[in-house]
Amino acid sequence: MSIKYNNLVYEMKGKGADVIVLSLGEAFFDIPLYPFDDLPFPGGYHYSHSRGIPDLRRHLAEYYRAHYQVPVDFEKEIIVTAGSKVAIHMTLMAVLNPGDEVLILEPAWVSYPEQVKLCHGVPVAVPQDRSVWDLEPYVTPRTKAIVVNYPHNPRGQMLGRQEWEFVHRLARDRDLYLISDEAYSEFVAGDEQFLSCAVFDPEKRHTIVCNSISKNFGMSGWRIGYVMTNPELTFEILKINQHLITCPATILQHYVAKHFYEILKITRPQIEEVVRIRREVAAYMDSLGITYLPGSATFYLFVSIEHSQLTSEEFCMRLLNERHVSAVPGLGYGKSCDKFIRVAVGTESMERLQQGVRMIKELIDHTR
Ligand code: PMP
Repeated sequence: MSIKYNNLVYEMKGKGADVIVLSLGEAFFDIPLYPFDDLPFPGGYHYSHSRGIPDLRRHLAEYYRAHYQVPVDFEKEIIVTAGSKVAIHMTLMAVLNPGDEVLILEPAWVSYPEQVKLCHGVPVAVPQDRSVWDLEPYVTPRTKAIVVNYPHNPRGQMLGRQEWEFVHRLARDRDLYLISDEAYSEFVAGDEQFLSCAVFDPEKRHTIVCNSISKNFGMSGWRIGYVMTNPELTFEILKINQHLITCPATILQHYVAKHFYEILKITRPQIEEVVRIRREVAAYMDSLGITYLPGSATFYLFVSIEHSQLTSEEFCMRLLNERHVSAVPGLGYGKSCDKFIRVAVGTESMERLQQGVRMIKELIDHTR
């Protein structure tokens, strides 16, 4: 759904239209391009270790230890892959048998249910008005895993300690995996603290963490992600990685390993800024009486259009065609989300963001 709307934006822009883009799942950062000539040659032209180059694994493991208090053995518990999307998919391939059920809380990132289906599993949607406290009744003898995604796309929500403890207790009691998509782990500002799922299961007996440099380093086009879990399950995922991708681009792994901490240092203040912008846009929505699901992290808001008569697709289509503002229909995030649209604040100026929000308000009022 998000790609469909972004393609429409490209087409409209191609014809010269000025579109306020609130549909793009990215924040644009200023990151320098470092030279490639001092990277390993000719090694960079060839396949790397299929777990990823050791230097990058070492940095990623150290990053999780230092930033998120999660111990990771870089030799046995991590694989570098081509983005976290494929990391999540390979994890599902490794743990699911045909017919196994996977619980997915709505709103849910567009790819989770499709990826479960690609593995011949059954996605079980937990509607948007439920929370993790309501998960238990959805667990059946066929349930194999729960996908958890905090900071959350598109809600911007995080889990607190008690909620995490509850989810882990459920996983232990019912023998479930927790597949934790932590792609937005850096997108937290001020006093808030991101809690990795693995903090509550440091041996990663039932926890699989997927993450990437796409959002946290602002380098989505490099397709570098990683998956971390216990050594046995890592080995199972490794076999799939070997058959599907071998390794991500070797030269880019070297580049990221070499400039790892510089890039983090450069993106950190820019991430703080985009989370601050989210807050400002949320306050602006409050002032106009627009409501959204509670959350404070990431650069997304899941905005209610319950007062409009339109479905989320009709709403977004009219918003784009009549008012030249792009947002993503909530329906893409689950059947229970048709009275919402996703607004992303990562790529436009405050003035244009506010203008876009006013257009949303106008269309809600106009279609009451
Ligand atoms: N998880 C979530 C919640 C996302 O929003 C995205 C990208 N939009 C991904 C995973 C995948 O990111 P990548 O494959 O670039 O790491």
